Amino acid sequence: MDFTNKVIVVTGGGSGIGRACCYEFAALKGAVVVVDRDEKGGEETRHKIVADGGRAEFFAADVSSESQVEDLIKKALARTGGIDVLVNNAGIQRYGTATTTSAQEWDEVLDVNLKGAFLMARYTIPAMIQRGGGAIVNTASVQSVAAVRNSLAYVVSKHGLLGLTRCLALDYAKNNIRANCVMPGAIDTPMLRWAASLDDHPEKVIDACNRLHAVGRMGTADEVARVIAFLASDEASFMTGAAIPVDGGLLVPVGGMMFQESGTGAKKA
Ligand code: NAP
Repeated sequence: MDFTNKVIVVTGGGSGIGRACCYEFAALKGAVVVVDRDEKGGEETRHKIVADGGRAEFFAADVSSESQVEDLIKKALARTGGIDVLVNNAGIQRYGTATTTSAQEWDEVLDVNLKGAFLMARYTIPAMIQRGGGAIVNTASVQSVAAVRNSLAYVVSKHGLLGLTRCLALDYAKNNIRANCVMPGAIDTPMLRWAASLDDHPEKVIDACNRLHAVGRMGTADEVARVIAFLASDEASFMTGAAIPVDGGLLVPVGGMMFQESGTGAKKA
């Protein structure tokens, strides 16, 4: 894979999976636009890429704000001359059910995880069309196709992100723009460590996260970033509208259980 002469915008590039994406695209010779509301994290990512001889810019922005997204894309285009790849990765997690999630928490999660990706696409796609095409990769989740308890707003936002991916794929195929998403399982990032810290026994949560996966461990941010880079690359030229699990086999037992209960008459081993 080679991203020479390509400009890649990564939201949430100041931490976790987004930062790993920035490093991966820079290693593949792309010019990276790091976007994050966390100025310290975003600047650190930019600084490391440049120190290693790569090309990167950092723009502080909240992806849930339309005016900030519009302004950020204008500035990014002025600096880079075009955008070839958009990675919608910024996201937040909040916990609660329908009766324990406040309307404010609902708005907060949906605004960042779903509206943020819509706004970034809305303001980036015209530049991609001018460039003759592009690729969008959204960081969805296994929770785009499966629900977990006490995670209402997050699950809904990630289901929505899968729908957004499919709509973008259909609407812009004619413009040579592909849109795909990855569905990570539990990935060892600051977000996951923060979620574990909410429990009285964080180490037990980490242990449970490891055991969720068929491979017996959580994933790393690098392992997700490599799949995102592949989907953004010309190597994936016949892929659009796809949702790719990067989950160490986490979703496999769901399908397995459905098969066992489907009454196919398969003999027990
Ligand atoms: P992370 O370490 O918390 O990194 C996310 C980054 O996005 C942070 O720097 C965060 O800044 C930034 N951000 C949050 N809201 C933003 C906004 N409104 N505008 C701009 N930047 C914003 O999280 P991660 O684990 O790498 O997660 C990245 C993505 O992967 C998310 O979409 C998440 O839902 C998804 N994902 C994660 C996992 C997992 O197990 N880690 C699994 C499946 C999917 P702040 O620190 O200021 O919030």
